[in-house]
Amino acid sequence: TKTLNIIGGGMAGSEAAWQAANQGISVVIHEMRPKVGTFAHQTGNLGEMVCSNSFRSDDNEQNAVGLLHWEMRQANGLIMNIAEKHRIPAGGALAVDREPFAESVTAALKAHPNISVSYDEITELPDDGHWIVATGPLTSDALSASIAKATGAEALAFFDAIAPIIYFDTIDMSQAWMQSRYDKGETEEERTAYLNCPMDKAQYEAFIDALMAADKTQFKDGETAKYFDGCLPVEVMAERGRETLRFGPMKPVGLTNPHAPDDKPYAVVQLRRDNALGTLYNIVGFQTKMTYGAQKEVLRMIPGLENAEFARLGGIHRNTFLNSPTLLTHDMKLKTHPNLRFAGQITGVEGYVESAAMGLLAGRMAAAEINGDDLPAVPQVTAMGALVSHITGGADAKTFQPMNVNFGLFPPVDGLKGGRKGRKDRYKAYTDRAKAEWLGWLGQEKLAAE
Ligand code: FAD
Repeated sequence: TKTLNIIGGGMAGSEAAWQAANQGISVVIHEMRPKVGTFAHQTGNLGEMVCSNSFRSDDNEQNAVGLLHWEMRQANGLIMNIAEKHRIPAGGALAVDREPFAESVTAALKAHPNISVSYDEITELPDDGHWIVATGPLTSDALSASIAKATGAEALAFFDAIAPIIYFDTIDMSQAWMQSRYDKGETEEERTAYLNCPMDKAQYEAFIDALMAADKTQFKDGETAKYFDGCLPVEVMAERGRETLRFGPMKPVGLTNPHAPDDKPYAVVQLRRDNALGTLYNIVGFQTKMTYGAQKEVLRMIPGLENAEFARLGGIHRNTFLNSPTLLTHDMKLKTHPNLRFAGQITGVEGYVESAAMGLLAGRMAAAEINGDDLPAVPQVTAMGALVSHITGGADAKTFQPMNVNFGLFPPVDGLKGGRKGRKDRYKAYTDRAKAEWLGWLGQEKLAAE
């Protein structure tokens, strides 16, 4: 059959439907709203924005999410086209008037001759036919149970507990050092798996005070705070006793500081390599409900992180997502059920734009498969490619948490200065390279005149 079924008409499902329909595929979108609601959605519209009305930075030369906007526009992306129509002033960001935006997304999909919308909840993963599952962070309970059955329960998460992620090149290695606890690790990859930041007693005490005093965000109604199993927020650990962290994630044992071999640190903050490229490190055990502003301030108190730049800040949210690095193929299929692709936030990307982007890819991939076309692999140097490569293989499966697009996911550009100084040139080089490769992938020959 030439029909593609898509479960979920949110950011990813709407974009996937549009892309596949434009390749001549007949598409059915199955959307449970308004019959069955979620705690965050307010309407029955397709493409509803559940919280902020912003698609973040629109700068396609210095910002990875802006680059993703650009790539989606070149691919005739629905979400970007409609966002442009309902754009409201927001400085360098792409913000929209949310109600008319979602109404227009709904109208455009319904008006497409190849698309129909069925308002029903899908409660089980289907066995045959071509399907894309794009049910998002608030996937219904019944379908979540069916997905957990197919993937194994431990491979489907219901909360994300994100520890902040830092660009390696902003860490001061004259204070920090690389070492695995008890020197475990034989290969170069194992030896660079952990990075350590030492604290003396005064620094530790000041840090605990700051953690406890920091502003925190609250859970929303209905977003039950079931986060207590194994992933306590770092500030909650600190509240349980001033020594809890020193005997937990900040324990100073099994480590020797090469910068001061005779000085035993009082506490150590460990960072763990977050991607195969080694450009990103997450702070071990530091999932947090601190506000973004407070996180930057408190975490820059850690010796070695005074000038840290964050690829993403921490958070704890209700979020249904797969352990994609172990479960999905590079073309976003469930390895054990090749009739199913996954797209959107459920694949472990984070954000409206990233979710729509993964919908765009999944829609094109499914259409190519149904049409019998060979689709070349998405170049990893594009924003699309960097993101899909990360979730389907580049990320560490053991610590996998949802990811925003950021330049740390891109293969480095050679011959450019590292650190803060060279950053502007480096980002421009990343975006120039991405644009050329993306147009190549789309089969376009010339840079669209801008
Ligand atoms: P969604 O847009 O949620 O779409 C999934 C769709 O599937 C929904 O319409 C849902 O009704 C439907 N569905 C679910 N289960 C079934 C089923 N069994 N059968 C049929 N239909 C089903 N990102 C940002 O960039 N900015 C923000 O401000 C932001 N705020 C967020 C706030 C909250 C409370 C949450 C939970 C997430 C937020 N996100 C935000 C993250 C995320 O990017 C968005 O949730 C985004 O909408 C994800 O796109 P998606 O298509 O994967 O899922």
